Amino acid sequence: MMAFSDDEAIQAEGSATSTYALAQLRSYIEAQGAQQGSRLPTERQLAEEMGVGRRAVRRALEMLENEGRITRRQGAGTFIGSAPAQPVTRDALIGATDFFEIMEVRLRLEPQLAALAALRGKPGQIARMFELSDRIAQCRDADEGELWDGALHRQIAEAAGNALFLSLFDIVNQVRQDAAWQAVRERARGGLAGHALPVAQHRAIVEAIAARDPQGAAEQMRVHLFSIQEKLIRLGSADADAAPFAIPEPGQPANA
Ligand SMILES: [Zn+2]
Repeated sequence: MMAFSDDEAIQAEGSATSTYALAQLRSYIEAQGAQQGSRLPTERQLAEEMGVGRRAVRRALEMLENEGRITRRQGAGTFIGSAPAQPVTRDALIGATDFFEIMEVRLRLEPQLAALAALRGKPGQIARMFELSDRIAQCRDADEGELWDGALHRQIAEAAGNALFLSLFDIVNQVRQDAAWQAVRERARGGLAGHALPVAQHRAIVEAIAARDPQGAAEQMRVHLFSIQEKLIRLGSADADAAPFAIPEPGQPANA
């Protein structure tokens, strides 16, 4: 006499109801629209609402979790959508990047910001750029130069008039201003012959912005950033074995 054992019967029934529970859950999630992050009822509530066993619900949830349709968080419940990306912290970014990556990003970001500043910069913002580039020219040490250089680059970013672009600029700027990078930057500047070159570069950027010349502004910014990058590459290959963060020569002006 052929008969399912109790176990087999339960399994057969279990898998059928799991399929049913899965279909129900799929339509429930779809009915929620794209409510990513909204919480599903508990396993027990779902089982009661669908009229199936909790095991069937659990299996269906496992399937959906595998597909990335839901996320189960210990102690918090089950949520629609895949696990939210961890917010990127400044420290995580600093740990995951290096100065050359920062320059790659700056070279793609800041010329565009300079071009937009040429199109949209307000007269007051442009006047401030001239003031800042004068301040940089008068700087007596690296620390002071750093401060005013940062202010000029940010004023250009702000004058671009795009809040999202400005946020990106600020993220890159925070990473590059980290103390570890500061030492590298100071070394990069230490070898520059005087500070006539960066001062002239800054002035050329601001003048192109004032002349409402977006291509010229982008080009001048590129020239300025390339000169910093080249300097860093030369330093990197010349003294890779040297102490990573040597103290810069005092009195060298800073205008990166
Ligand atoms: Zn600069």
